[in-house]
Amino acid sequence: MAKQYDLIIVGAGMVGALASILFAKSSLRIALVDKHHGDYTLSTPPAYDSRVSAISSQSKSLLEEAGVWQGIAQNRVASYDNMVVWDGLGDGYIDFDAQTTKMPELGHLVENAVLCERLISQARSSTNIDLFFNDGLDSHELDEFGAKVVLSSGLVLEAQAVIAADGAMSKLRTENAFETLEWDYGHSAIVATIEIHQSHENTAWQSFGEEGILAFLPLPSVDERHFVSIVWSVPPSEAKQLMALDDDTFCQRLHYAMSKRFEVLGVMTARQSIPLRQRHAKHYVKTGIALIGDAAHTIHPLAGQGANLGFSDVKSLVEVLSKAHKRGESLGAGKVLRRYQRARMLDNIAMAAGMEAFKRLFSTQQPLIVQLRNGGMKRFNQNLSLKRKLIARAAGLSSFS
Ligand SMILES: Cc1cc2nc3c(=O)[nH]c(=O)nc-3n(C[C@H](O)[C@H](O)[C@H](O)COP(=O)(O)OP(=O)(O)OC[C@H]3O[C@@H](n4cnc5c(N)ncnc54)[C@H](O)[C@@H]3O)c2cc1C
Repeated sequence: MAKQYDLIIVGAGMVGALASILFAKSSLRIALVDKHHGDYTLSTPPAYDSRVSAISSQSKSLLEEAGVWQGIAQNRVASYDNMVVWDGLGDGYIDFDAQTTKMPELGHLVENAVLCERLISQARSSTNIDLFFNDGLDSHELDEFGAKVVLSSGLVLEAQAVIAADGAMSKLRTENAFETLEWDYGHSAIVATIEIHQSHENTAWQSFGEEGILAFLPLPSVDERHFVSIVWSVPPSEAKQLMALDDDTFCQRLHYAMSKRFEVLGVMTARQSIPLRQRHAKHYVKTGIALIGDAAHTIHPLAGQGANLGFSDVKSLVEVLSKAHKRGESLGAGKVLRRYQRARMLDNIAMAAGMEAFKRLFSTQQPLIVQLRNGGMKRFNQNLSLKRKLIARAAGLSSFS
């Protein structure tokens, strides 16, 4: 016999797990499904997880509302109140600081494993959420009357709608013939935890240069030793070469790619290389289904916004469906789900376009463009009002739409 819910969420990554908790707080009955086992073993600092996310103010507020921020904050979070971005091929640079916008900080760096572990633990404690882990999607049917999902284990779930939070390679997106606009960025991102000699000064550092786009993101110091998480975006052939280097040579390359600002002491975790692809679904909803997070869109990590956009999708979808539930409307109705699509699409497209423009602008070494871009950076750096607008946007406190 089928188990009955208001919503079935497929994918318990950070986006799907947060959605489950916030829907459950609105008294909806949720089935949360993931093919992963859902148990996260956290490494011991300073071997911080090599996957981290810069979390904006708005995302932090959502995590507070979900009741998980306090647990995360106790678990090795680093805040940053400055960000310095420079052009390795010139003398242009931009510095952002929290004081400019009277914010306590620009954001927080959290390990993905810590975020997921906290979110899933909170989801487990909710009486409105049933978790089906280690169990994938076998088949599903959607129509205006509701959704039926059959899991690999044979369990059958029914609900008013399915929420696809199953990540960049979403099976639900493909099987429901959602068209996407997508292309390779021509970049792979190398991530790892690195020890540096001096303090990172609670600053996110980012260099755009001949050696690619390289970010040093602050992590908590341990016994006066200092650590950063790196995201180094380079063409795939260069990523392959960098991955093949021994740790000492890799650290030397980091030192030069960061314009010699930091003495790099060592690599604390295995390096990972992740191919980067821009992807955007042309529609986020069809009758009985909505896409959220990476299932709907993936962007270049250079501004650390992918998960933040996913969390904004969650905020919007929870608002739309909670109101519809109170009014007695069907949660799977196309006209209800389209309210979510209208609320989110423009903002997500604008962010994707911004990342593409940035990536292209800084990929060229053409002297005239390098000169123009350095001049532009200097002028931008002196324009407080524009800087405030950009900081507010990155913090999720304003939108493009
Ligand atoms: C190098 C790099 C750095 C980044 N840095 C930042 C940053 O600083 N800040 C930021 O905001 N974003 C950042 N991002 C983006 C961010 O990591 C993603 O946007 C975010 O992880 C997406 O979360 P998600 O829950 O949508 O998808 P995922 O994390 O991919 O979760 C999908 C879940 O669905 C499950 N699943 C998949 N298929 C099925 C199935 N068929 N059945 C059941 N379960 C299924 C998977 O097991 C998984 O648990 C970065 C990305 C990269 C690549």
